[in-house]
Amino acid sequence: MSGAIDRLKQALGPKGWVEDEADLEPYREERRGKYRGLTRFVARPATVGQVAEVVRICAEAGLPVVPQGGNTGLVGGTVTAESEIVLSTDRLDRIRDIDPLDNTITVEAGVILQRVQEAADDADRLFPLSLGAEGSCRIGGNLSSNAGGTGVLRYGNARDLTLGLEVVLPDGRVWNGLRRLRKDNTGYDLKQLFIGAEGTLGIITAAVLKLFPKPRQVETALVGLADPQSALRLLSNARSDSGDTVSAFELMGRTGVDFAVQHVHGVSDPMGDRYPWYVLIELASPIDDGRLRETMETMLGTALEREIIQDAVIAANRDQEQRLWRLREAVVEGQLSEGGSIKHDVSVPVSRVPDFIDQATRAVEAWLPGIRPCAFGHVGDGNIHFNLSQPVGMDRQAYLDRWDEASRIVHDIAAELDGSISAEHGIGIMKRDELPLRKDAVALDLMRRIKDCLDPEELMNPGKVLKARRQPSSDL
Ligand code: FAD
Repeated sequence: MSGAIDRLKQALGPKGWVEDEADLEPYREERRGKYRGLTRFVARPATVGQVAEVVRICAEAGLPVVPQGGNTGLVGGTVTAESEIVLSTDRLDRIRDIDPLDNTITVEAGVILQRVQEAADDADRLFPLSLGAEGSCRIGGNLSSNAGGTGVLRYGNARDLTLGLEVVLPDGRVWNGLRRLRKDNTGYDLKQLFIGAEGTLGIITAAVLKLFPKPRQVETALVGLADPQSALRLLSNARSDSGDTVSAFELMGRTGVDFAVQHVHGVSDPMGDRYPWYVLIELASPIDDGRLRETMETMLGTALEREIIQDAVIAANRDQEQRLWRLREAVVEGQLSEGGSIKHDVSVPVSRVPDFIDQATRAVEAWLPGIRPCAFGHVGDGNIHFNLSQPVGMDRQAYLDRWDEASRIVHDIAAELDGSISAEHGIGIMKRDELPLRKDAVALDLMRRIKDCLDPEELMNPGKVLKARRQPSSDL
């Protein structure tokens, strides 16, 4: 290994690698503290040529490579064994091109998501991918995990937002698929292989992403309602009554709102009365005719009359709008102060969301009395983050030790309702061993063949998504 490391250092230059124990820490740590990386070397290439050179040297030496972007992933996708190196994209951070006529932006993999949004904004365009970690996650990571977030309902997920890719393959060749074409029917759509592959098939080095007209009017409201079924009725009405301008539709249960109000500084109860469920709804229109507020008022007024909702507040200005979004984000933060939390990121067909929440809540309450389900999420996409806070007074670790038991119950219900065990976070190592139980056998076989074809030596993020067949990393 040391010969290969010397070659890597030479190829990368002085700022291009990290070996010092203290400096390695940020690349080793995993946000939820569930896993711990053990790598002893981080490569920080600054050009595509350097990425290719690193991968070639590693391929020759049989050295496994784990790509890493912002390291905000939630399924252990960047966790390393001692014998693996991290390839960080943090220096691969150029915006190569922005074209308002093509409505595209071409960025390198290490560009932070928020920078892409800002660059689009400067060009009077919108890049709609938006999620809680947008200040630190990087485009390569977003695409490799096919990130979702709050804008999927209107604009689609990372997969839908990508026109072209540049990828370094496991043998060190560079595939230049940086096309900005909206139509290209020349055979297999190869970029789709690498999106959502979690770094197991190659390293994304750049991407052409879609831009959209910038919204000229945005209206945001918080609604109190009785149950998730009412939320679905509201969604259906809102889409048709607003000319399909719904750009976000986030459901929150009262438990999560309580946690946010109790524990997160600056967050207060949003309405005079308490409601079992809330929806944060956003309408956005690229037309500046001043009528969107009226549309929101009419739509919510009708919903009140029909008793679909119980109360609503519409943000009067940008500050109030931000406070409503702050509440939504604080639902995640607030759980941290309530002890152990067993987290799930499931999806079901939108129409089955109420059934899922109802059945899963009853099942986990029967399994562990006192457990506190905290369901929230991008419900317009059928995506529920079904997080379970521990019973008050229970030992935190004893509770977390039962993670797999709880997940089996929750995932069984999602599967019965034709859902998925991973809506947007991916598989990583966290759900890898469960994947064969949940995925169609033919699909799994095809995935394995694709992996074998592109990465026969299993050097590209081994052991993630699919179990490694050769030389399993002993410490993963
Ligand atoms: P990393 O964590 O660095 O990597 C993720 C995976 O991609 C790993 O398997 C890694 O090996 C691989 N990878 C990284 N870069 C490359 C590359 N260039 N080429 C090939 N493979 C690569 N996710 C959502 O989908 N929706 C949300 O709403 C959401 N909200 C979040 C909120 C918070 C507060 C946090 C902490 C996370 C959230 N996430 C969400 C999860 C996470 O932010 C996303 O998965 C994000 O897209 C990961 O980007 P990253 O750059 O941090 O990737």
